[in-house]
Amino acid sequence: MAKRILAGWVAVIGAIAAALLLVLPAAAEKAAPGKAPEITRGAVTGQTQAKGYDHPNQYMHVRPVAIAENMEPVIQHPEQDKSAKEKLAALEKRFGKKPNILIFITDDMGWLDPGFNGGGEAVGNPTPNLDRLAHGGLILTSAYSTPSCTPTRATIHTGQNPLHHGLLRPPMYGEPGGLDGAVTLPAILQKLGYVTQGVGKWHMGENEGSLPQNVGYDDFYGFLGVSDMYTEWRDIYFNPEVALSPSRFQMMEKLGFSHHNVHCIKGKKEVENVYEINLSTIGNLDQDWCGYSEKFIHKMAKSRKPWFLYHATRACHFDNYPNNEFAGKSPARTVYSDAMVETDAIFGRLVKALEETGQLDNTLIFFTSDNGPEGEVPPHGRSPFRGFKGSSWEGGVRVPTFVYWKGMIKPRRCDGLFDLADLFNTCISLAGSSGAGVTNFLPKNRYVDGIDQASFLVADNGQSNRRSRIYTLNQFFSAVRLDEFKGLMAVELEKAIFPRGFQAGFSGGVLTQTGGVLMVNLYTDPQEDVNSGIRHIPMMVPLGAEAARYQEVLKKYPPQVKVGFGSN
Ligand code: CA
Repeated sequence: MAKRILAGWVAVIGAIAAALLLVLPAAAEKAAPGKAPEITRGAVTGQTQAKGYDHPNQYMHVRPVAIAENMEPVIQHPEQDKSAKEKLAALEKRFGKKPNILIFITDDMGWLDPGFNGGGEAVGNPTPNLDRLAHGGLILTSAYSTPSCTPTRATIHTGQNPLHHGLLRPPMYGEPGGLDGAVTLPAILQKLGYVTQGVGKWHMGENEGSLPQNVGYDDFYGFLGVSDMYTEWRDIYFNPEVALSPSRFQMMEKLGFSHHNVHCIKGKKEVENVYEINLSTIGNLDQDWCGYSEKFIHKMAKSRKPWFLYHATRACHFDNYPNNEFAGKSPARTVYSDAMVETDAIFGRLVKALEETGQLDNTLIFFTSDNGPEGEVPPHGRSPFRGFKGSSWEGGVRVPTFVYWKGMIKPRRCDGLFDLADLFNTCISLAGSSGAGVTNFLPKNRYVDGIDQASFLVADNGQSNRRSRIYTLNQFFSAVRLDEFKGLMAVELEKAIFPRGFQAGFSGGVLTQTGGVLMVNLYTDPQEDVNSGIRHIPMMVPLGAEAARYQEVLKKYPPQVKVGFGSN
């Protein structure tokens, strides 16, 4: 199916691309002296006097550089790399160790939910802590997750997109499949001398080989699944068919998935059940987890080792049950917005712990969400883009993201491409193994979709080292973005199945090949509802060439399926 989807696009456009790339230099030559000037730019009425502009982070005309056979090629910026390395070396000299890394990842938060992207007060959930740090750091307006929870979390942990790590969708209620067998980010950081701590939502497999302590974490405190698994069958409003049936309720109680908030320790294969998660305890989970991370930050202030903290919140995944402290605290007073306000407060507490312990200057803080807003269970998040969680329309995968590093990252906003897979390479780079160095930790047959973006983040006015963004959707290579242009090869057809109720996200479950040259311009048409491919064929050509390039990658490093769909 995937091959068929690509066939039309790639065969036609790929061939034209190769031909055009050969003739482009000749076409750019100037007219010979003595001849009447030709109108090279303008209209038939005359030549334009406008000089035009090039902009940073637009790389359609730039050939990327291959730095390793099993890695995505990169846009190289030697000066920016040098500048970043100098800044990092000076910091290491000052603190006597590599920098700490805090990844703070929320669940189902939309691009427009926090204030730093235009939401906040305007949508009834102010986020002052997030906004303060975001505006003091680098706001990434084109940061990309995958369409749903587990695939994104595994992408961060492996540096691979879902087609390569094989977790194509979330495993639910103890289904098999997870990170087992992967070489993970925390496992590599351990080798580089880091203390690794995971807190909060796991959802990357409950089987023994996939448990946090067996894939690189020294310690983990949180739950192994996803929020709704613990309570939706207990709630008489959401699932009375189960909650009010003693037999069905017992079936769920006995179902083989972890029902507890757990503690995992390196060296101990089993998990320790701390307490059951139910309608009494769910509302306090994020507070509990925040306390655990605060203690870790305080403890590590005295350590000579650098640390990696992966803090994954329960919020704002449905069902949100705010605790009494936050119920009604958002002006919107919805459970979703209350969870937004609580998440903001928790983020603020962790930043305060870093400040109080003198670690803020030596800690990179990366804030993001695991996918775009969920759309099927209101109240939910918001996005200015088309689509929801479960699709590879921009709304499903463009996520609110910023990186803050006191004294190291200058405040700015940038639309350079950033894939959350890049966190893998970037964190390993900060820990001492930059560029192609990451491959030293991996088998040769393991493809790395991430790119080292350390210099993008750290160098003053750094630019993205990523030329394109590859989109996946379930088992499909669905789209490719170059600059502001996105070529669509497989899409979710909304409103295709159900005539009533919610008609997109997972519910709009018809995926189809586009069958032709479809392209949207994300600047002029962020809603992705106008095909601009035919009018702008010169941009279709490099897009097609990029799709063809990645198709070759998939031939050499074939797609994997660890948690998949019935049809593949
Ligand atoms: Ca999610």
